Amino acid sequence: MFRVVLTISTLFVASIAFASVSTDAKTGSADSTAQTAPVVSTSPDTAASKVSGLTPLDGAQTDSTLSFIAVGDIMMGLNYPDDQPLLPPEEGVLIFKDVKPVLQNATITVGNLEGVLLDFGGLPKSCSNPKFCYTFRTPERYVKNLVDAGFDLLGVANNHSGDFGDTGRETTQKVLKEAGIGYAGFENSCESFILERGGVKYGFAAFSVNRGTLRVTDFEKARQVVSALSTEADIVIVNMHIGAEGQKFNHITRQTENFIGENRGNPYLFARTVIDAGADLVFGHGPHVPRAMDLYKGRFIAYSLGNFATSTSVNITGVSGYAPMVKVVTDREGNFIEGEIISAIQRGQDGARRPLLDSTNACVKEIKRLTEKDIPEAPIIIHNDGKITLKGGGK
Ligand SMILES: [Zn+2]
Repeated sequence: MFRVVLTISTLFVASIAFASVSTDAKTGSADSTAQTAPVVSTSPDTAASKVSGLTPLDGAQTDSTLSFIAVGDIMMGLNYPDDQPLLPPEEGVLIFKDVKPVLQNATITVGNLEGVLLDFGGLPKSCSNPKFCYTFRTPERYVKNLVDAGFDLLGVANNHSGDFGDTGRETTQKVLKEAGIGYAGFENSCESFILERGGVKYGFAAFSVNRGTLRVTDFEKARQVVSALSTEADIVIVNMHIGAEGQKFNHITRQTENFIGENRGNPYLFARTVIDAGADLVFGHGPHVPRAMDLYKGRFIAYSLGNFATSTSVNITGVSGYAPMVKVVTDREGNFIEGEIISAIQRGQDGARRPLLDSTNACVKEIKRLTEKDIPEAPIIIHNDGKITLKGGGK
């Protein structure tokens, strides 16, 4: 019965009173009326709080352009096992503090919610080897940190969103919905989402390799979901949780990747498949390390944005601690105009595990290196300062 009920809401549209918010809201001129309570199923007008602390692409934002910020995996702390919680100090309010001005410096901010928002209960997944068993259950109230940071859309298609069974999936959706954050990724329940803002409809879908989510290995279904979204929305954003995991797997091979006996998908091919079906932006994560960036048919692809905010239980040594944010500016059709990688690393001098802005630009250097090696023909240039431009100036 549960499934039947959820199927009805497979595609739900957030009709929110955004009419007064123009696309220049992120430059700090958001109309306060934008905070009108969501009407249906909802995304808050975080644009109202998108005050510009940073303007990485000054002057790029006009009425004819749209801007996006994307990040990788987010796991804010664990309340499971019940007797051994691993939670950050001060309810996690510090997690996004350093990077908040960047996260809010775009019309739409997207990430991957790795795990479940659930206070207690749920059926933890069983693991053949408890030593390597990771079950991610984060307190429901921590959703406030995501709202405060400015997240508009979160993918729930990943290998941890099923860690606590149906209870976990249901509660996560309920919590995100009540908080006004758009989400997508569960098969038959939230396969896609449309957020309307400033007169533009942003469609969102998320895919992973895991049961219960839309699959990166099911091209037919992916095409169907994305092409349906592209007929309803002006811009289609796709999250893909895809590829083998770890520092040895930071390259784009253009082949299907196998990891611990599982087919983890072919990021190069999947990105092209969804763009052919109508996607305008493709944001990858899953490998826990950054990977190359690319452009296909004028549409931007980040193959992996790595770990963004993983407060515990995830390796953050070396490049695993890199937490890049990518800002992308497109025209209103979704064609890439320019972008910027903003570098953050999850290693504070105080031992803090949260994304901290990194003046050495380590993420930029790494992604530039990988892009030039793996996708030399990509029609983009990543500059040393992180700016991303079209080769030949796009001429
Ligand atoms: Zn994952």
